[in-house]
Order: sequence, then C-alpha cells, then structure tokens
Amino acid sequence: MSKTKEQIEQHIEALAQFTATPGSGTTRLTYSQEDLHARNYIKEQMKASGLHVSEDGFGNIFGKLEGSIPDAPSVMIGSHFDSVPNGGAYDGPAGVVAALEVAKLFQKNDLKPKYPLEIIALVEEEGSRFGGGLMGSRGITGVLSEADFNSLKDRDGVSTVEAMQKIGLDPSLPKGRDPKTMKAFLELHIEQGPILEEKNIPIGVVDAIVGLTQYEVTVKGQAGHAGTTPMDRRADALIAASKIISQLPELAVEEGNGTVLTVGRLNVFPNGANVIPDKVVFTIDLRSGKEEHVLNVIEKMKECINTHQGSGIEIMAEEQLYIQPKALNENIRALLEDKSKESNVSYCSINSGAGHDAMIFSDFTDVGMLFIPSKAGLSHCPEEWSDSNHIAKAAEIFYEAAKDLTEVEEE
Ligand SMILES: [Zn+2]
Repeated sequence: MSKTKEQIEQHIEALAQFTATPGSGTTRLTYSQEDLHARNYIKEQMKASGLHVSEDGFGNIFGKLEGSIPDAPSVMIGSHFDSVPNGGAYDGPAGVVAALEVAKLFQKNDLKPKYPLEIIALVEEEGSRFGGGLMGSRGITGVLSEADFNSLKDRDGVSTVEAMQKIGLDPSLPKGRDPKTMKAFLELHIEQGPILEEKNIPIGVVDAIVGLTQYEVTVKGQAGHAGTTPMDRRADALIAASKIISQLPELAVEEGNGTVLTVGRLNVFPNGANVIPDKVVFTIDLRSGKEEHVLNVIEKMKECINTHQGSGIEIMAEEQLYIQPKALNENIRALLEDKSKESNVSYCSINSGAGHDAMIFSDFTDVGMLFIPSKAGLSHCPEEWSDSNHIAKAAEIFYEAAKDLTEVEEE
C-alpha cells in the first residue's frame, strides 16, 4: 500500500507541474500546452502499465487492457484532467491517478480479465475553455453532437478543432462510442465539500448525484417616495421578498436528507436609495438526492410564496431548470461497499452535490462513484488538497471491484 501511495503522490505532483500559473494553483485548460504535457504524461503511464493507448476525436485518452472475450464491453475507470483557472491539483487528477494505479496492479499481478479494463482521462469537464462542461463524457456518449462540438469557440474565438490541431490532436478520429462497448464506469472524485472530513471517514460511496431545480421569483409591488408614503400604505416588493427569502432555508432544513437551498441572486428595481422598491427578482437553487425531497420543498416553497400575495404584492415563481436526481447503479454501489468492508476501509453513503462525468455516463452504462475527503471542504482553488492515502484506498477498492467486473480468470 505504501508503494501505491508513493506512486500516487508522484503522479499528482507530476500532473500539478503542468499548469499555466505556477505558484498560483493548477490552470490546465483543454487543448493548451499544459493539456499536451499532462496528456503525454498520462499516455506514458498507461503504456508503462501495458495498456494499449488511443485518443478519440475529442482528445479523450483511453488505455485499454484487452479481455479474453472478443469485442466485449469495457469496464472503464477514470475522470477528467482539465482544471478551472487557478484550481487545485486533485479535482479530476485524483480520479485519473487512482485509475492508473488500478491498471498498474492488474499488470503487477498479471491478471487476465475476460472483459477489457479501460482507463480513461477526459477533456473539458470544467468547461473552463469552451463552456458548458462535461464535454468529454457528453461527446463519448453522443449527448454532444459533432456539429455542436465543431461550433464551440473559446473566448478568443479559437474553435475546438483549431485548438486540437494546435497541439497535434486529430479531430477526425472517431468520436462517439456505442453504449454496447461499455460495461461499467467507475469514477473517483474529491468530495469538494466538508462532510467526509468532518466525519473522519476516508471513503464516500456515492448514492446519487443530486437533482437541481432553479426558480426565478418576481415580486411586484408599488413604487413610491421613501419620504412621503406612510408605512401602512406601502406595497414594498423588497420587504415581501426578504420575508420569503428568510423563510426558505428552513424548508430545506426541515426536509433534511442533504437537501440544500440557496438564494444567490437578487435584483432590486428601481434600486434607488429614496424609492420604495416596486420589483424584486431573485433566484432559488434547490438540490437533493431524491426526487421526493425536491418535490416536497418545491410545494412548501410555493405555499410560502402564496402567503405573501395580496395587499398590493403580486408574486410569480417560474421554473428555469429541472434536472432529476440520478441514483447510481445499485449493484455497483453494493459492490463498492463490499470491497470497502473487505479492505477494512470505513465508508459512508453520500450524495454528490455537483455534476460529474459519472452523471453523464449513468444514462448509458452502470456507474459507480467514490468520494474522498477534501481538506476544509475546499476545491477550485490552489488550497485544494486530499490525502494520497485516501486516493490509495479508493484505488484498492476499485482494483478489487474491477477484478469482479472484468471477471478476472486467475490470479
Ligand atoms: Zn472534477
């Protein structure tokens, strides 16, 4: 295990060097020079573990250990290797590095799987260069069409295709792949939140990727002079909005089960110091791991809003976004829990509050996901840190799970 930990640290350190902002965190935008250097490193490591290395027309990297059954679907393990500007060294790479370790262990123990093992390193999960995010996984699964991919440009007007060619990638290579070529996908990711660290548990087995609902609420009142309108004659949109906003967090707390609610944007009109506000627009962002919790809170939220209607106040709540929670595959979840137990690693169930490549793959294949603690819950900043012992534990669990899923013949 200590050897694994050492190798993991080396990989993390090596990848962290490929940053456009040395000394200020990891900045590795897709198809940049830093991407090229990290890509070459990952490909070398894949080759050193005896994998057959290839890239697709998006620049995603695949390292494959063939199975004995011809054309059998792959057990894929991996994550992304791009970063946000001035991000950390673990968001993405932790999962790539754990996957590399699984391949190394297959090689070291000379395992012969029936189903192929495929280590994957994905591009542009963060969307920091071309927007949208999850580009690699959306591309592989065909959620992102080739035409849409070709039309994407970065802030300087450079297209995806031009940027790929600039670092020697070939956009004419095959892009999407048939779901029939995928048996399962496993992803390790840093938690990016404080739960595992606070509980002092090294592994979170992800139950579900939370659903996301966003509402825009418009509160209309009556504008008036701040000096001449008596207090009892007012229909102040901001007062009504603030009464509602102050009641909303309690709805998520009452619902529990990790439900979270945020009012992150508030616009006041006309926004003058001496004018009673006649309109306020604010957003509600609601997330939970089970749809029933999302629906419960939406209903209570509407009730709360309705109690503030009238007396010159008119309120409208409009749904802007509704993404269903995604429960991850039950069998794989159970397998990861069993392997954690067998490896004497303590674990707990956890929801993922952020979208990940695993979420995209879950519509096409059986997906399992592990989280490891994030120091102080921080991510997307240079201070982002996770313990390589925890990455090693996750790699061990994935190794044991991959042996089952690929149906290794003999050890
Ligand atoms: Zn990530």
